[in-house]
Formats: sequence, C-alpha cells, structure tokens
Amino acid sequence: TKTINLQSRPSGQPKLADFDFSTSEVPELGQGELLLGTKYVSVDPYLRGRMSDAPSYVPPFELNKPNKSGIVAEVLESKNDAFSTGDFVVGELDWKEKQVVKGAGLMKVDPNQAALSAYLGILGMTGLTAYHGMMEIGKPKAEETLVVSGAAGAVGSVVGQIGKILGLHVVGIAGTDEKLEMLKSEFGFDEGINYKTTKNMTEAIAKACPNGVDIYFDNVGGEISDAVLFNINKFSRTINCGAISVYNNTEAPKSISVQPFLVKKSSLMQGFIVTDYANKNKEAIQQLSAWLKQEKLHYTETIKEGFDQIPQAFLDLFEGKNKGKMIVKL
Ligand code: NDP
Repeated sequence: TKTINLQSRPSGQPKLADFDFSTSEVPELGQGELLLGTKYVSVDPYLRGRMSDAPSYVPPFELNKPNKSGIVAEVLESKNDAFSTGDFVVGELDWKEKQVVKGAGLMKVDPNQAALSAYLGILGMTGLTAYHGMMEIGKPKAEETLVVSGAAGAVGSVVGQIGKILGLHVVGIAGTDEKLEMLKSEFGFDEGINYKTTKNMTEAIAKACPNGVDIYFDNVGGEISDAVLFNINKFSRTINCGAISVYNNTEAPKSISVQPFLVKKSSLMQGFIVTDYANKNKEAIQQLSAWLKQEKLHYTETIKEGFDQIPQAFLDLFEGKNKGKMIVKL
C-alpha cells in the first residue's frame, strides 16, 4: 500500500518535491485493531503550518513520516468490537491507501445522512469553523454588514451563507470573477470583490458596504484585511480564522498598524481554533444539517481523483484552484 511522507519542510511556497511516496505491506491485524481503506482525503491550508517546525497549537509533522489530514475511510476488516466491516469513519489519519489503526479518535459516519465527503467539509471541520467563528465571535445581528475573505473556499462559502440566513448584507472577497459569480448565484451573497483585479480595495469595500463593516470574517490576512479594517464600524467584530496570504512568506510581512482603528471603533478582533468550541460541535452539526435539509445552505466541492493527486491538490489551495472544499477521492 502507498504512503505519502513529508520529505522536506517547505520553504516559502510548498512544492511536489517536499513530498515522497513509499510502498509497504499492510500489517496483520492485532486484537482491537481495524484495517481502513481511504475513501476521501481533505487537504487544508492549515496543513502548511504543520509542515514547518515553528511552534504552534498542534505538533509539526515529522520528516520522513506520513503526512496526515482529515480522512473518510471504510472499515475493511475489524478486530475491534466498536467497528464492523463496511462501517465508514472519519478522523485524522495518515496519507496512506490502507492503514491499520486502533480506532481511537475515529467517528462513525452515515452515508445515508449525507455524502461521505461532506463529513470533511460542510458537516466536518470547515463547516464547524464557519459556524463557531460566526456564532461565538461574530455574533451576527440582522441588517448588519458582513465581509468575508477567502469567500469562495470551504470555510468562506459557508460563512457568507450563514450571514444570509441570519439576514445580513454579505460581501465576499475572492480571486476570480467566476468565483464571485458563484457566490452570488449559488450562495446568495449580495456583492463580490475580486482582490486580484481591484486596484483600490479600501474604496471597493466602502462601495460594497455603504453602511460600513460590522463583522469581518478573515481567512486571508495581509493587505486584503488591512483594506477591510479601514472600513470597520463602531463595535465591529473581526474573526481571525486564518491568514493564507502570509502562510508561505519567508520575510515578516509589511503590515499597517491596525490598533488605532480598533481603538477608535471600540472594535473586537479575536483569533480562534475550531477545537476551542468542541463542546458545541453537536448543536453546530444539528443546525448545519437542518439548514442543509431545508436547502437554506448549499455547498460545493472540488474533487480530484486518485491517491497520487493529494500533494498537488494541497499545492493548488495556494493558487486558488478550488471552489468550496478541496477533496481527493480514491
Ligand atoms: P479554502 O477552501 O478557502 O482554500 C484556500 C483559498 O484561499 C484558495 O481557494 C484561494 O482562493 C485563497 N487564497 C490562496 N492564496 C491566497 C492569497 N495569497 N491571498 C488571498 N487568498 C488566497 O481553505 P479553507 O476554507 O479550508 O480555509 C480558509 C482559511 O481558514 C485558511 O486561512 C485556514 O487556515 C483557516 N482555517 C482556520 C481554522 C481555525 O480553526 N481557525 C480551521 C480551518 C481553516 P482565491 O481564488 O480567492 O485566492
């Protein structure tokens, strides 16, 4: 069975040569163990942080060991009473075609409730990130204005839709006109701004947000975020979810000092990690599932086929090649 290992810690933009394929025999099952066959692999921007050895909230991946991410797998064989052959599970697993595990940290998922890939996106980590960030920090009120960056991605597209469900004016920032069109026609966003073709982002945001910005859900950081913060309202809230625009920087970014804006506007800015709110995951999943059933919430995925495509799919995130959740299907 094939494995993808981290061959070298990326410097700047990650490249295919940072990953290495190896092949090994699948080990025999011991008591309490199960054999899993990988079905769907999530690739996520946060994995970039785990490929570097800078101190973080999760330990870094080890060199010459398998990379990991959220994976949906099928139980092919089980010597563990909690799982049966044919069950589907989700959890953080190695980038392997097949693997033997003990079952700790795995959650069973039901293919009749939702598409299996959804447990990596809308009903998984990225859906929870959107929901908790909005509810716990954004605290949205109807009629307010929400700006979301990285709007056409897995987290951003859900954030904007939650905003619309709750009656906000929603403006999305993304990197292509095609993505902006999708945000409006498929996800109900009110306005979209293409950060790659817009010369003056501060002015564009002011124009799209005639009443100023009450909530900024920040997935990208950097200059895009500076431009949004020039437009914030009194008592506004900024949700620091991620900063993909600076993940590959090799030098300290030249950033404006945002503190004076926050002071003048009595504005809140808070970072978070999705697991901070794990005690509220159950109610979040119930709400997201209900909105999906009611067709108030929609999702899209970019699916690449084949185990060997995992590294390229990961690299493509930094080129904006995905719409919605990026997933590799085996
Ligand atoms: P996405 O599906 O949004 O994929 C990444 C997107 O980022 C790309 O499609 C691209 O879209 C955009 N992008 C890439 N490079 C840049 C750049 N230089 N400047 C601006 N935009 C860029 O990923 P996710 O939804 O999984 O993650 C979104 C953010 O949320 C990330 O920052 C991630 O780290 C963070 N996150 C945080 C969590 C937490 O617990 N705090 C949990 C999960 C995710 P475009 O075409 O628009 O450029």
